[in-house]
Amino acid sequence: MSFHAAHCTLCPRRCGADRTKGVGLCHCSTEIRIARAALHFWEEPCISGKNGSGAVFFSGCALGCIFCQNRKISRKAVGKIVTVEQLSEIFLALQEQQAHNINLVTGSHYTPWIVQALELAKPKLHIPVVWNCGGYESMEILHMLDGLVDIYLPDLKFYEAGTAKAYAGCPDYFTVAAKAIAEMHRQAGTLRWKGALLQRGLMVRHLVLPGHRKESIALLHQLAELLPADAFLLSLMGQYTPPEQHLEDPFLNRRIATFEYESVRKCAVQLGLNGYGQDRSSATASYTPDFWIE
Ligand code: SF4
Repeated sequence: MSFHAAHCTLCPRRCGADRTKGVGLCHCSTEIRIARAALHFWEEPCISGKNGSGAVFFSGCALGCIFCQNRKISRKAVGKIVTVEQLSEIFLALQEQQAHNINLVTGSHYTPWIVQALELAKPKLHIPVVWNCGGYESMEILHMLDGLVDIYLPDLKFYEAGTAKAYAGCPDYFTVAAKAIAEMHRQAGTLRWKGALLQRGLMVRHLVLPGHRKESIALLHQLAELLPADAFLLSLMGQYTPPEQHLEDPFLNRRIATFEYESVRKCAVQLGLNGYGQDRSSATASYTPDFWIE
């Protein structure tokens, strides 16, 4: 493991921050902060199931999208400080509560510590581990996770470099995420199920943004070229909600129109992609996802 807290180049931002003295672009030091750890019922049905997913929401984020709905957690990194041992106990407590899986949400910037916590829990942990991330993932991070993660659940947010630059300050987003997704698939392999619950594999999420349906369609075409259609699940989301603060952007201050979502959904069907679409009536600020299988 080539992680140096005093000069962190862990994620693709490679900001070089000294996390022993301050925070990096992800807003995080060497303290593990979690915003919430609880049963979570609002993921796709194959992840949440009946009992819920054992979600651990990590504070901070290296991506920093301008339309983020969770700024308090992602930018201010508010949350409870836990040790590696406590994190490991949290995983086991969630399993005890009958969670279907351990769902690690936006944990990339804490990977070295999460790996230690997973290794500690491993002898007693018998439910799948889900890596739920923004897709902008380095090979270093993915190699650390190899053998510890069962289900990869990345976003694939942007296709065009200009959009990724304007919305997240990372013009190389698609190149990095596509390479990461190929590696995730290599690690997780083919989809494995236990009844209706996913046990192993890859599910890629894409949120259709207002004014960007053509970009979403181009992104799906690229994704279909990257991986065989039966190698992964697609979760096509349509619940974009503008953030409370007004954005200096011609598109992001409104929700998506039904025709925007439907045109992208139609493309996914034509490409033979499998997975989940979304009920457009759920596009409200108090959004509760409502998924169905194609
Ligand atoms: S994980 Fe944080 S500190 Fe490390 S390179 Fe990424 S943004 Fe910088």
